[in-house]
Amino acid sequence: MKGWVRKALVASGVAAVGRRVLGRTGVFVLEFHGTPSRRYPELPSAIRPDFTAGDLERVLGWLAERFAFLTPDQAFEPGARGVLLTFDDGFANNVKEALPLLERFGAPAIFFVTLQHLEDSGNWLPSVRRQLEGSEQEWPEEIRQDLFDGMNEDQLRLCVAHPLISIGSHTLHHPRLSECEDPVLGRELEGSCLRLEELGGQPVKFFAYPYGDYDRRVAEAVRDAGYRAAFVEDSRQVGLPAFEIPRVGLYSSEPSYLALKLSGFHRRPWGGLDAAAGGSDE
Ligand SMILES: [Zn+2]
Repeated sequence: MKGWVRKALVASGVAAVGRRVLGRTGVFVLEFHGTPSRRYPELPSAIRPDFTAGDLERVLGWLAERFAFLTPDQAFEPGARGVLLTFDDGFANNVKEALPLLERFGAPAIFFVTLQHLEDSGNWLPSVRRQLEGSEQEWPEEIRQDLFDGMNEDQLRLCVAHPLISIGSHTLHHPRLSECEDPVLGRELEGSCLRLEELGGQPVKFFAYPYGDYDRRVAEAVRDAGYRAAFVEDSRQVGLPAFEIPRVGLYSSEPSYLALKLSGFHRRPWGGLDAAAGGSDE
């Protein structure tokens, strides 16, 4: 579809009708990742971020006019309606850049963090390591921190204590869990939970699968490790609805993109656990 046609359709209210028809109840769980301070046009494209804190600010402004921002507990209430924000991986830029914006909009969020960089700040996510190894350049410290660093212990403690933020687990080392043998799977699920509870003293209730990779065995292990719910992007429908809650990944702040992704046509909003148990989702 040509861009102007799409824009015209959106402008003519197709998306709004979709929201009225399909979105009367339900929660869009939104998925974000890093939120660096700027776009860095001078960097090679493999490293250049395509979503920044500025994009998040525009997305939050767009959402604030259309949806209620929900806490995780509100999102789980029957009949809930609104958006629940989630941020994967535990980038330091979520604390430095995203948190002040969340405060300004009064928007609660779950930060799903990996923990390997708490032990070793140079131990980045596998995807970040690949990006850095692929570029032979030494990046200035300021760029490395803004784009690649994970939260340090102080930042994590700040989030744990913050009234708008819930901390969820995203494993210790960000592996593909369906490829992990049981003992490794157990360590990744329970070790991350224990470490987070040590830091914050509160039970960690929520989990997000690295790469969205899971199967029935993995989802059962997450349940058995004591988590209340787990989030994916695309549900594989393995029969444990509370442990495969679908999310909508947002990678642009273009209003026409947001209108289509949250119209109810791209993906129906999550209908809560009662609806999911009835098998009505997608
Ligand atoms: Zn991740």
